[in-house]
Amino acid sequence: MRAVIYGGVGEIRIERVPDPVILDDHDVIVRVTAASICGTDVRLYWGTMNAMIPIQPGDPLGHEFVGVIEEVGRGIRQLRKGQRVVSPFSIHCGICFFCENDFVTACENLRGFGLSRAWGHLGGGQAEYVRVPDAERTLLVLDERVSDEQATVLPDLLTGVFAGMEFLTGREIVAVVGCGPTGLAAIMCAKLRGALKVLAIDHHPERLARAASCGAITVNFDEEDPLDAVRSHTAGRGVDVAADCVGKPGTIQKTCAMVRRYGSVVLLGYLDPTEQCAIGELSLAHITIRPGLVPPIRKYQYRVMQLIAEQRLDPALILSHTMPLDHASLAYGMMAERRDGAVKIVLKP
Ligand SMILES: [Zn+2]
Ligand SMILES: [Zn+2]
Repeated sequence: MRAVIYGGVGEIRIERVPDPVILDDHDVIVRVTAASICGTDVRLYWGTMNAMIPIQPGDPLGHEFVGVIEEVGRGIRQLRKGQRVVSPFSIHCGICFFCENDFVTACENLRGFGLSRAWGHLGGGQAEYVRVPDAERTLLVLDERVSDEQATVLPDLLTGVFAGMEFLTGREIVAVVGCGPTGLAAIMCAKLRGALKVLAIDHHPERLARAASCGAITVNFDEEDPLDAVRSHTAGRGVDVAADCVGKPGTIQKTCAMVRRYGSVVLLGYLDPTEQCAIGELSLAHITIRPGLVPPIRKYQYRVMQLIAEQRLDPALILSHTMPLDHASLAYGMMAERRDGAVKIVLKP
């Protein structure tokens, strides 16, 4: 089969690799119909996340995939050939302390698809086929109202952001810093949760236009100081909630400065483990920091799928392109360089 393979920093290849086979009675083989490229994949391509995910040239990529069940192991009871399914980006063991307490993405035996050997060395989802171990605990059967493309935001992006924004109770003024895929998802989820106003901060005109179509008030930081914008929308006090969706070093301090006393900062973008902020200032202002990255996806996947099916969340506002799997190298380049309006790209085998 054909698969997207990491070739080193800045290099993506399509290679012929052996088809995956059933290795265990609880395995399922999925024929992939759509797989999206994640910001994490782009960071691996840039070489900026390799301390956490030590990917090696030759490793497969892709952890956001949707497909049709092609073959089931002998121990599978609930799933059958021909069903459309989506996976979370990872597989959990179901028996460790963290799994028992519902923190499944903190599982002591967590394995990820297409996320290096250190993460369990499962196959990549940007391929024609994937083997899914522990399939009955892992796969979700898709609602027929949700298309393959739409469902590619369920393994990670939209489900994760939804979980991170679930604490909103309505009528908040929210600042979303960074309008890439994560920021756009955050705007949508804030609106869904009943936010009064969402200020979307970025400087790419195309991304700001998408943010506006998600219902946000846009702030171009090349033209306007975001802090001034925040103050003018909040009678000078700061936003109730700021969502950091930048995923680059050095912005968190600025995001924190936008929040009012007793407000919250939700961290939805990837932060380098050494990233710092003035914890003393935040403590004095009673600002709550909410980690939002890699929440227990499987717990929220069904709800987010239903919200898409009911057209209350619209992945089309995030998914900018659909391209053939064979064009993966071009697609990675477009996302990495933000070329041709690329926000998030779906690959189709
Ligand atoms: Zn992802
Ligand atoms: Zn576990």
